[in-house]
Amino acid sequence: MAFQVNQLHILLVPLMTQSHLIPFTDMAKLLAQRGPTVTIVMTPLNSLRFQTFISEQTSKYRRKIQFLVLPFPCRENGLPQGCENMDSLPSPDLVPNFFSACKFLQEPLEKWVQEKMEFGAKPSCIVSDFCLPWTENIAVKFSIPRFVFHGTSIFSAVCNFRIVTSKVLERIESDSDPFQVPDIPDEIYVTRGQLPHAIRQSLGESLSVKVNEFKAAELSADGILVNSFEELESKYLNEYIDIKKKKKIWLIGPVSHMNRDEILGSVTAHDNCSIKWLNERTKPGSVVYACFGSLSHFSSSQLKELAIGLESSNRHFIWVIRKDDFYSTRRFEEWLEEENFEERVKERGLVFRGWAPQVSILNHPAVGGFLTHCGWNSTLDGVSAGRPMITWPMFAEQFHNENLIVKLLKIGVRVGVKETVKNHRRDEDNDVQKGLPSFVTRDDIKKAIEDLMDEGDEGEERRRRAKEVGEMSNRVVEEGGSSFLNVSLFIQHISEQLKHQS
Ligand code: UDP
Repeated sequence: MAFQVNQLHILLVPLMTQSHLIPFTDMAKLLAQRGPTVTIVMTPLNSLRFQTFISEQTSKYRRKIQFLVLPFPCRENGLPQGCENMDSLPSPDLVPNFFSACKFLQEPLEKWVQEKMEFGAKPSCIVSDFCLPWTENIAVKFSIPRFVFHGTSIFSAVCNFRIVTSKVLERIESDSDPFQVPDIPDEIYVTRGQLPHAIRQSLGESLSVKVNEFKAAELSADGILVNSFEELESKYLNEYIDIKKKKKIWLIGPVSHMNRDEILGSVTAHDNCSIKWLNERTKPGSVVYACFGSLSHFSSSQLKELAIGLESSNRHFIWVIRKDDFYSTRRFEEWLEEENFEERVKERGLVFRGWAPQVSILNHPAVGGFLTHCGWNSTLDGVSAGRPMITWPMFAEQFHNENLIVKLLKIGVRVGVKETVKNHRRDEDNDVQKGLPSFVTRDDIKKAIEDLMDEGDEGEERRRRAKEVGEMSNRVVEEGGSSFLNVSLFIQHISEQLKHQS
């Protein structure tokens, strides 16, 4: 290699939200394991949340990973004190404030880079979140190569691009009319109501200012890293390279495989009540795991409907409920108690409150299916564990991921949700909630679980495919696999760039 890889120092700058921090920390391990030293930007509270990670990793990779903890100005940006992670936002209306606060990381980060330079220890490159365009300023100021990390599927990126550039939305009159995604290799239908907010708002190519900023910063980057793997979305890879203006692209995922052995082997996961509960389930593939990521909110009426749907499916289940979904869960907790729900289902079901060890749960032999909101990290978790999925997309690009799971990979069944969730915090009128196209009924849930867990030919075939995709995802990260190779090529690229600079 042109440069000693263990002389490389990679600076990672994630967006402060679980679904970005997790793949960034996984990527840190992935890179450190292959030689370079890695610094990850954190904020005080996030560094506490990921503390176990750092203590485990520093010993494992001989101090190759360190956190750079920078202050996060909440109050100055109209955020409640301690709101350093998007999962603690009390309202989605505060998302713009959160992004403003993120920009305040630029100045202290610049100062840190400056100091490093004074000691002749400038980072070899920056890998920054797609959503943090201001990292471009630092890269330019200090002449550091910069790469953008995407934690979403390339299929969804291609679909969104084609929808915007074809101007197909100009001809669509209602949110519920299905239309075919133009100029892609497969026949895929979506509705306007299922599209990410930024795309829905766009007419022609006029995307929101923020998305345009993201795109401009991506255009000036030296390359793109993606948390996916070539074999998973092969038909869309060339299209993706085209729409990214033939930039250098490395698909290095699923990065969560870095998590798997450690989490499975760790005391924390084994001790977790969810794993203990699963250990008591002796029939392989008999449990449905339901979890909706770190940001989804449900109305209390939707939570009740889900509870009844899970119960009436007559299958074993673990259901993860976010603790911080304050308003809805408070009302729902009251209902659970009145109904004596947990006692009633205790032979079959576990209601788990808080943060579940998802990767370990999904890889547990007792788990046979995953009811997911189709966030990309969760989708990859399900894919890697080889589990068939019930898809319940809620926002962002999740409806595209649903199509990938159900139509292209054929490893899932839809729960039947029709639109993205709107006004999901307004829980006052439960009857209104029930009429929304984003509402899923108990019968929908019961039927989807029955279909997924079905032991007939269709269910078996779906399980067989899911297992096959899972095995494929394990192979790509092993030596000789495509993602393993792409990590090597990326590291080689940085070292060659440095050689040219010196
Ligand atoms: N996750 C977890 N335990 C939980 C909830 C979520 O480990 O109880 C992890 C999951 O493994 C994934 C991430 O949180 O890595 C969620 O990311 P995703 O992109 O699926 O969804 P988002 O949180 O952005 O909606």
